[in-house]
Amino acid sequence: MNRWYNKPCERVMEELEVDFSGLTEKEVTTRRDKYGFNELIEGEKASAFLIFLEQFKDLLVIILLGAATISIILGDIESSVVIFLVVILNAILGTVQHIKAAESLNSLKKLSSPTAKVLRGGVKIEIPSREVIVGDIVYLDAGDYICADGRVIENYSLQVNESSLTGESESVNKQVDVIDEEDIPLGDRKNMVYSGSLVTYGRAKILVTEIGMKTEIGKVAMLLDDTSKKKTPLQVSLDDFGKKLAIGILIICALVFALNIYRGYTLISAFMFAVALAVAAIPEALSSIVTIVLAIGTQKMAKEHSIIKQLQAVEGLGSVSVICSDKTGTLTQNKMTVKRLFVDDKVVLTNDIALDNNLQKNIIMQSILCNDSIISDDKEIGDPTEVALVNLGRVFSINELELRKMYPRLGEIPFDSDRKLMSTVHNIDDKNTMITKGAVDVIIRRVTHIQTNNGIRKVTKEDIKSIENKNEEFSKLGLRVLGFAYKEIEEKEEYNLEDEKEYTFVGLISMMDPPREESKKAVEECIKAGIRPIMITGDHKITAMAIAKEIGILHEGEESVEGREIENLTDEQLIKKVQDISVYSRVSPEHKIRIVKAWQSRGNIVAMTGDGVNDAPALKASNIGVAMGITGTEVAKDAAAMVLTDDNFATIVKAVENGRNIYNNIRSAIKFLLSGNTAGILSVLWASILALPMPFTAVHLLFINLVTDSLPAIALGVEPYKENVMKEKPRGINTPILTKDFTIELIFEGIIIAIVTMLAFKIGNDNYGEGMGRTMAFATLCLSRLLHGFSSRGNENVFRVGMFKNKYSWLAFGVGSLLLFSILLVPALNGVFEVTYLGFNNIINIILLSLCSFIVIQIGKTLKSIIISTKR
Ligand code: ATP
Repeated sequence: MNRWYNKPCERVMEELEVDFSGLTEKEVTTRRDKYGFNELIEGEKASAFLIFLEQFKDLLVIILLGAATISIILGDIESSVVIFLVVILNAILGTVQHIKAAESLNSLKKLSSPTAKVLRGGVKIEIPSREVIVGDIVYLDAGDYICADGRVIENYSLQVNESSLTGESESVNKQVDVIDEEDIPLGDRKNMVYSGSLVTYGRAKILVTEIGMKTEIGKVAMLLDDTSKKKTPLQVSLDDFGKKLAIGILIICALVFALNIYRGYTLISAFMFAVALAVAAIPEALSSIVTIVLAIGTQKMAKEHSIIKQLQAVEGLGSVSVICSDKTGTLTQNKMTVKRLFVDDKVVLTNDIALDNNLQKNIIMQSILCNDSIISDDKEIGDPTEVALVNLGRVFSINELELRKMYPRLGEIPFDSDRKLMSTVHNIDDKNTMITKGAVDVIIRRVTHIQTNNGIRKVTKEDIKSIENKNEEFSKLGLRVLGFAYKEIEEKEEYNLEDEKEYTFVGLISMMDPPREESKKAVEECIKAGIRPIMITGDHKITAMAIAKEIGILHEGEESVEGREIENLTDEQLIKKVQDISVYSRVSPEHKIRIVKAWQSRGNIVAMTGDGVNDAPALKASNIGVAMGITGTEVAKDAAAMVLTDDNFATIVKAVENGRNIYNNIRSAIKFLLSGNTAGILSVLWASILALPMPFTAVHLLFINLVTDSLPAIALGVEPYKENVMKEKPRGINTPILTKDFTIELIFEGIIIAIVTMLAFKIGNDNYGEGMGRTMAFATLCLSRLLHGFSSRGNENVFRVGMFKNKYSWLAFGVGSLLLFSILLVPALNGVFEVTYLGFNNIINIILLSLCSFIVIQIGKTLKSIIISTKR
């Protein structure tokens, strides 16, 4: 085994045949054959057969199988074959849907797959982590997941959490120096980093030594957790409902069985009656429909820039009542341009900047040196705030790379959003100098001197006042303001937070980050939908207020507070006050968690955005953690339930709308299935109580299950999304899917369909005998359910919902009817499906009865809408 840690960097580079400008693309291609891709080979995936077997674990299916087995023992082979067929076909359907859903989640995951910043041919580029190869030089920043094992070759206070490998939760400091020991444990290899660990602080460059399965994590073959396996709350509650339903059905079947035995039926026919009831009553398609609707929904959302990482987020989105959003980049464009400077007590507009003024030149040079961003081939790489400063330099023909070569960085204390400062050390005019930029209110507390055109002097109270006033004035214009200061500092190995004090103040640079055009509309839509938008930003209070007012988040009577003001409040006080606050500024990540929790204690479902490494706990604490796809760190993306590929607030609102629609479609499909089953149960119960012959044979029930249940239910799942969902209030998260209204409605619809079915049975039975009765009951139940597919498309009557809006409903109805009438009208099929030839009159009767059920249900829906609107 190669011990990279006890070799100096140069040796490692020599052995891996690479220099400080990184690999060339040509070398990468040749290495690819040798090393392959940087990916872990996934462990055994559940085979299709195993997934198929899983489908038989359901209690309802077990009841059916039990019934089939007893049927065989009793000699009724035909019924048991039919039941087996129902169960097997359903299991196949379930397996296909399960695999499809897993595939779609996997493809979504790929969309949000991690990237790495590498140096290739002297140029820093971003590539998918999968393409990283041995010998690559990779840049690491706080918040990155490390994608390969590597030797640290440049280090700026890098701290790494290696708990996935070592179990140690404390971050470890890394170094470049050689470790002159042999066989030291992984946790002590301070100059190495390992794939799967997380950068918690600082920056570094590493040289990749091992990729894919050769990495330490690859050897352990530990895979990152797979969230797709988790069931959503809806699926859990449906499972629970299924169990209760199974018990209910068993009890009813037992009663019917007992009643029929009492009546003197033979054991076989009493039993078959009970089995028919069970088959009719069990909604086999229920859970597969939910899975498929969720899978289709998430695909649609991915196209609209929101990638769902946890399926439960889809349902949760529909209940979101508060969206806490970052400002920079989410509500604003994150395209910053410098607008004005403030130096020597004077405001200088960008157009008036003159480099022959020493002070102005100084602040611009400092802003480029204390800066990690670059513009390469017209591509801006780095934090937009810093890119704006690099752009300003370019206007004056200052190339950031050349300037940084002239004054190399000798040390640094990286930016973090808690401290709101960044410092770098350079040798300028033979003096070791620390340059610091950051939030004005933080810088100002640390200055002792001020630089003016007339030289450096002690800072006065008036100076401070004047800087604060300017900061406020700029902020009121919605500008983002950075302060700049520097100091001479003795040379040392490492610089720390203690050094960030006793500065000489240079000036302010303010930049514009205009709101996104769509933010205002999205905020308005949010408010209409009963969702409270909240701005949480690290930026200055006044800048935040200016932008919040402009886009409609901050209104008269609502408050804007700073992070430190929250610190003075107890949790109880915050819970009381939280409703009055629309804007939080100068917030650090811990404040975010308190804000989320306060809203949650008031019974709200909170979506929270985040991008930084420290945002992960708040993302996890919120109900729907939303990570930024472009600017977000890998850690934030990992902790989130949803990733925005365009970092846009409007996308969250769109996702909420989609979430509501998907939930509604699932609800319609469930209602359709359950009302159909209710009709089936009632018909069989009715026959049993009135001692009539059995209204359906086993083959009929098979047909109903596979055709009239599944087809319209799938069509309901893909019902086009309705626009008016955003005019309603959010659904309470604890509202069960089977609300009282919902249950009453589905039972009512079930009763109507059962009535027409039994009327058809009676007409056939009374006039032509049992066989005709059964055929008519079967045909009427089928046709009524196919028509019911239309009725279930919304809360209002189908004409208001729009008869022609869902072409899949028509397709389901067309295919279903075609199959039904083929059975009824093609003599060769009559025998197979145990139906009697109907004749013209009876066909008309069937159609009329089915239409009757359809019309009565429409009347019911219309009356309900009238009652609701008069109540309002
Ligand atoms: P949001 O939280 O809405 O994304 P933000 O980008 O302003 O807003 P942070 O990134 O936490 O939030 O930044 C907080 C403050 O730190 C900024 O207002 C700015 O004053 C300062 N700041 C931001 N970026 C840098 C940087 N690269 N170097 C120095 N200071 C910075």
